[in-house]
Amino acid sequence: MKLAKRVEQVTPSLTLAIDAKAKALKASGVDICSFSAGEPDFPTPDHILAAAKQALDDGKTRYGPAAGEPRLREAIAQKLQKDNGLCFGAENIIVTNGGKHSLFDLMLAIIDAGDEVIIPSPFWVSYPEMVKLAGGIPVIVPTDEKSQFKITPAQLQQAITPKTKLFIINSPSNPTGMVYTPAELEALAAIVVANDLLVVSDEIYEKLIYDGAQHVSIGALGPEIYERTLVSSGFAKAYSMTGWRVGWLAGPVEIIRAATLIQGHSTSNVCTFAQWGAIAALEGSQDCVESMRVAFAERRQSMFDLINAIPGLSCAKPDGAFYLLPSIAQTGMTSLEFCDALLEEQKVALIPGIAFGADDFIRLSYATDMDTIKRGMERLDKFVRSRS
Ligand code: PLP
Repeated sequence: MKLAKRVEQVTPSLTLAIDAKAKALKASGVDICSFSAGEPDFPTPDHILAAAKQALDDGKTRYGPAAGEPRLREAIAQKLQKDNGLCFGAENIIVTNGGKHSLFDLMLAIIDAGDEVIIPSPFWVSYPEMVKLAGGIPVIVPTDEKSQFKITPAQLQQAITPKTKLFIINSPSNPTGMVYTPAELEALAAIVVANDLLVVSDEIYEKLIYDGAQHVSIGALGPEIYERTLVSSGFAKAYSMTGWRVGWLAGPVEIIRAATLIQGHSTSNVCTFAQWGAIAALEGSQDCVESMRVAFAERRQSMFDLINAIPGLSCAKPDGAFYLLPSIAQTGMTSLEFCDALLEEQKVALIPGIAFGADDFIRLSYATDMDTIKRGMERLDKFVRSRS
């Protein structure tokens, strides 16, 4: 079979592959402790389920506008104004099949063959692959623990060439959990503006922040950066709605219109009754978001303490998302060797850092119950000790 060249360049999602393997082992009766999924383990809150069920009963089962239900676009615009100080109206919003799809729409809307996109590493697995699928060139800028895995203004400046079109920033970050401060964002914004680039701010973890950290959207830092900012987000992480596939892209009207054109010829509207669930998520009480956040905060502390007590592993304490990224540099193993052997010997599933461009690290998600965290960290401890 002769496949298109664009497919040959794409690396399959290691995170999805490992998560699927862990789920299959579990289904076959193996006692797996899995920390691989980027997925809250809570059920979707009841009032959101009720709204989607009501929508089905009300016959909201038809095609809708490609850009999304007008009421949902309006609710997203209001959320962006209220929570993030971003002056977007409904015309600045497109509802997409999850945050992932909003980024994919964006790449297709703005990237021409050979355009460069700056991506700090460790990065979320899909960024470089989406850029390649759109014909662009991912320019990876490595960061390390010394800079808390954050790209510095000097690094950003250095990576810019006449071909640079877009800079991707993800705060709070998957996989590092790091949150950029307003001052750090301001310095990066100045470079984006000075070089007339676009920036996409992936804010899907904005509600999951701890220890008083503050989430700030780079687009809110002044009129010049606002004009160049796209915000990508969705309902999956904050409202435990991973399977619903509802997200959004917000930004300049011209780009949103282009994304809508693309969506109109690919997926059309997002599942209509799922959008009504999303409306209830935004318009209803936000207490559910806070109670999940508090549970994540407790798990984060436990997992952080247990990992740092393992000789040979070390881990920075991130302020957001639901991941820890311990260094395995002292073990002498590659991240794939580490994860393969750990799954084989101790039945613990986690993600090798190589998936995020960081081979000295492993990623653990603490979006799982406390008992699994305790049992899993005991096994991890046993594994690391057996190698030292
Ligand atoms: N962005 C980041 C950084 C993520 O970690 C994820 C999911 O894991 C997404 C975007 C996409 O989420 P979804 O497509 O489920 O809304």
